[in-house]
Amino acid sequence: MKISVATLLPDLIKEGLKWGILGRAVENGVIDVDVINIRDYTTDRHRTTDDYIYGGGAGMVMKPEPLYDLYDDLICKGRKPYVIYASPQGRVFHSEIAHELAKKDELLFICGRYEGIDERCMKIVDDEISIGDYVTSGAEFPVLVMIDSISRFYPGVVGNYDSVINDSHYQGLLDHENYTRPSEYRGMKVPEVYLNGNHKLIDEARLKNSLLRTAVKRPDLFSQKEFSVEEKRALAKLILELYQDVE
Ligand code: SAM
Repeated sequence: MKISVATLLPDLIKEGLKWGILGRAVENGVIDVDVINIRDYTTDRHRTTDDYIYGGGAGMVMKPEPLYDLYDDLICKGRKPYVIYASPQGRVFHSEIAHELAKKDELLFICGRYEGIDERCMKIVDDEISIGDYVTSGAEFPVLVMIDSISRFYPGVVGNYDSVINDSHYQGLLDHENYTRPSEYRGMKVPEVYLNGNHKLIDEARLKNSLLRTAVKRPDLFSQKEFSVEEKRALAKLILELYQDVE
């Protein structure tokens, strides 16, 4: 998978791509990341990338020429990136979008700074994506968040793909509780079901736990979820157990 990032802070992106699972994927070439310094596409001696806003008002806006020139340069090289402008005005990023973007051959992220990019740049943008309803001072952190999440869906990035599809949000539910050794710590015991080695019972306990914590922590997700037959069965058992606990 090829990912290009057009930014005014290339070192910030490069640093963020060095670590952990993502860092390994980049180092091994599973993900090929091209960090493009927008300033390399300026033509004046001050390498100017921003200017005053027509009509007045606070702040500066990113000039269109460097962004168009870097885009044209990629197109001239035969590349056809799916262009994403990271922006607080875009559709809100979530697991399904990450999964969908991981299927594209090539992505180009445009990182805004200041008050954002000149509106005419939107002509080269295929998708506008926000990481949430708040504003960061630039798109570098939002873009790193998106690249990390997208790359998890790319074959070979996470060693065991099961852990990706069992993560929170993939199936519209939150992940189940997890424990590690010791089996008892400060008087807190790991639930017996996880210790007995019966995988059918463990899977059922995990599914019930997933359903319960989604209902409690994220009722919005729970109310939108379309339950499978297996999930409905687990839900019925869970309700019965909770009812017996109350009795
Ligand atoms: N004036 C812009 C607005 O209100 O829509 C915000 C500009 S913000 C200070 C600078 C840049 O950070 C934006 O152009 C965008 O690229 C990036 N950014 C800020 N918040 C973001 C978010 N929630 N998701 C993705 N990118 C964001």
